[in-house]
Amino acid sequence: MMESEIRPDELYDETMRLRKIDTEKILLKSKSFVKVCCPACNKVEYELFYKRDGFTFVKCSVCETVFVNPRPTKEMLFEHYATSLNTKFWKKNVYPKSEESRIKHLILPRVKKILELCDKYDVPTCSIMDIGAGFGTFCEQITKTGKFKEVIAIEPNLEKDKYSHKKGITVIQDFIENIAERKVNVITSFESIEHMFSPKEYLNSVSKMLAKGGLLFLTTPNIKGFDLNVLKDKSDSTMAPGHINYFHPKSISLLLENCGFEVLSIETPGKLDAELVRKKALAGVISLDSQPFLKCVLIDEWQTYMDSFQQWLASNGLSSSMLITARKR
Ligand SMILES: [Zn+2]
Repeated sequence: MMESEIRPDELYDETMRLRKIDTEKILLKSKSFVKVCCPACNKVEYELFYKRDGFTFVKCSVCETVFVNPRPTKEMLFEHYATSLNTKFWKKNVYPKSEESRIKHLILPRVKKILELCDKYDVPTCSIMDIGAGFGTFCEQITKTGKFKEVIAIEPNLEKDKYSHKKGITVIQDFIENIAERKVNVITSFESIEHMFSPKEYLNSVSKMLAKGGLLFLTTPNIKGFDLNVLKDKSDSTMAPGHINYFHPKSISLLLENCGFEVLSIETPGKLDAELVRKKALAGVISLDSQPFLKCVLIDEWQTYMDSFQQWLASNGLSSSMLITARKR
């Protein structure tokens, strides 16, 4: 899979332009941003990691989670997402162009993996809930497998028309913390926790919706993965206020354990690390002149190593995209 298949290159500049407008708007309130403890270990010892676009990123001195601090309040974040020009553009232009590719390269492998893990851990498959369901693409594909009796999509910023042709999905337009408690067997949360004002509160709400022994599948960036580790503040994924929490395998495990989960496995199935770093080097955003090994793999001998290098990163827990499987105690 190439990045352009899920994020068309020709829309990149416009995405960045709109992102800048959104960011400037929320930064007008920066005096009211609030200081927080480490989202993983709750400690208050941290050091400056870097500053970017008016936001301060710090690294926890205890568990090495990176987080935006001070950060916009929950209400500011809500308003940001409800009015974001970039989100609107993404929904209208980026997503439709890349939907087919996303299904093929991201969603279907995810569906397959989750069914395998449900079998492996022998969890009942009466009900599954996807939190932050977006356009319902994952829910639609999981419904098609016929494995679950009930498929529930939770999405506060719901585009109702996107669900009209998707049959057999229960749709709830609200935040997880506002929904009446129920007990489902499986919950999925794809690329959500990094956006949350309080990851701990979020996981506690998730936990309330899961039956005892139920499985949670969580995906989020891995700050110790290859592309985030090499690119740091030059990565397009390390942008606030979109992403404000950056965990790694140990720190997300710590948080999950403290929220009543048993972590069963952490994989890094990312497919784009090498290409993302290569692109930034080719664009002159970073220099690999002092990194002859990386220059060889990512530039000079790219055709030879591109697939095997990425596979090596993914299978050794070194990709920047994590999939965590956890069971409610
Ligand atoms: Zn910490």
